[in-house]
Amino acid sequence: MTIKEMEKESPLQNALRQLERACDILQVEGDVLNILREPRKITLASIPVRMDNGETKVFQGYRVQHNNARGPYKGGIRFHPKVDLDEVKALAFWMSVKTGVLDVPYGGAKGGVTVDTKELSRGELERLSRGFVRQFYPVIGPDQDIPAPDVYTNPQVMAWMSDEYSSLAGKKEPAAFTGKPVEVGGSIDRDTSTPQGGVYVLEEVIKHRFKGKKKPYTVAIHGIGNVGGGVAEMLHYTNNDFKVVALSDSQTAIYNAEGFDIPFLMAQKHENGTIKGFDCGKEISHEDLLALDVDILIPAALENTIMAENAGDIKAKLILELANGPITPEAERILLDKDTLIIPDILANAGGVTVSYFEWCQNKSGYYWDSEEVQEKLSKKMKAAYQNVLELSKTYKTDLRTAAYILAVSKIVKAQESLGT
Ligand code: NAD
Repeated sequence: MTIKEMEKESPLQNALRQLERACDILQVEGDVLNILREPRKITLASIPVRMDNGETKVFQGYRVQHNNARGPYKGGIRFHPKVDLDEVKALAFWMSVKTGVLDVPYGGAKGGVTVDTKELSRGELERLSRGFVRQFYPVIGPDQDIPAPDVYTNPQVMAWMSDEYSSLAGKKEPAAFTGKPVEVGGSIDRDTSTPQGGVYVLEEVIKHRFKGKKKPYTVAIHGIGNVGGGVAEMLHYTNNDFKVVALSDSQTAIYNAEGFDIPFLMAQKHENGTIKGFDCGKEISHEDLLALDVDILIPAALENTIMAENAGDIKAKLILELANGPITPEAERILLDKDTLIIPDILANAGGVTVSYFEWCQNKSGYYWDSEEVQEKLSKKMKAAYQNVLELSKTYKTDLRTAAYILAVSKIVKAQESLGT
């Protein structure tokens, strides 16, 4: 097996190695480390769905609840053909860490269904979403485990899931799901909160990192879905501070040194499902995009995008990880040796779970905030988390990811120790 294959096999092992490194530094061992290595609960279910042609197809569903010492379990639901138990376990673990870094009162969980949503009609997608809730109803809920969107799930899916949950509960329970449309109890700005949180952190980082450097800073974005597309639009409107020169989706990657008309491209992506075929830049490979000589690289697709095999080619000096787990530990070592600054996923993409927390608070209180209030609170939380991580990285003379783990793991360990095992 090649290094590349080994890395691809094990997002969970990558996550556990990161945990062990933080625990080593914090000198945490024994019972608590053993507790954190394993999820508290794994629920598997077969979800039967009546297809439009009258046949019934059965899909495999997962919910992994990693840790709830700091509050109810929290984490998204991913619909993707490659979803498997190992991946969902890794994502659930990262959620425990992320809620710790941002200091929101939750634990960590994740769900998934092995499915290619591109092959489903809207009706089939709705029946799958509602079917997921019927199967997992006993283990989720507003004070137990609160799901949200992830790859190939969106506010519409959350609306169906929330509605199904309320039907089963026999009363409105909007706080059981976050990431809902605003009209059915979602928070203003939840849909843009993950990229917006990343931009708040990026703005802080470049104050120091790019001091004196000429603007606009060039940016390449790998994956322009909810998160990558959102960040492309935000950077486009920053008064020429940034210029997005390369973009990709699962079907293509494009480069244009002059930048793109991002709103036009995103409109095409929404209408046609891809940016392939629009004559607005040079078509390049995904590998070429990752290796571009840009100021900032933003991986915003899936795990293990930057691995030992291609890490040496990366030229960007700053990487903002908006995807979960896009850099393997082997690749990270290569990048850190080259003095690449990596803003880790558990900080960079935590704006989503932060505004999910705001949505949950609003649902529970029945009092809804305006955009100004959401943005003010989000900016404050993201910048505070970054400052805490930065301070710890100086104290322990370590990279930002390890510092973020130290911050989160110390909180989880204290909570777990107070509760006992
Ligand atoms: P999405 O489904 O909206 O978008 C994923 C994008 O990646 C799409 O543009 C797709 O075409 C592209 N893609 C898929 N495979 C690719 C490949 N092999 N090469 C290049 N591009 C590829 O998903 P999303 O919600 O934007 O999530 C993206 C990442 O961000 C995931 O890692 C997810 O876990 C993470 N994340 C999402 C949120 C959220 O609020 N949605 C929050 C935190 C983290």
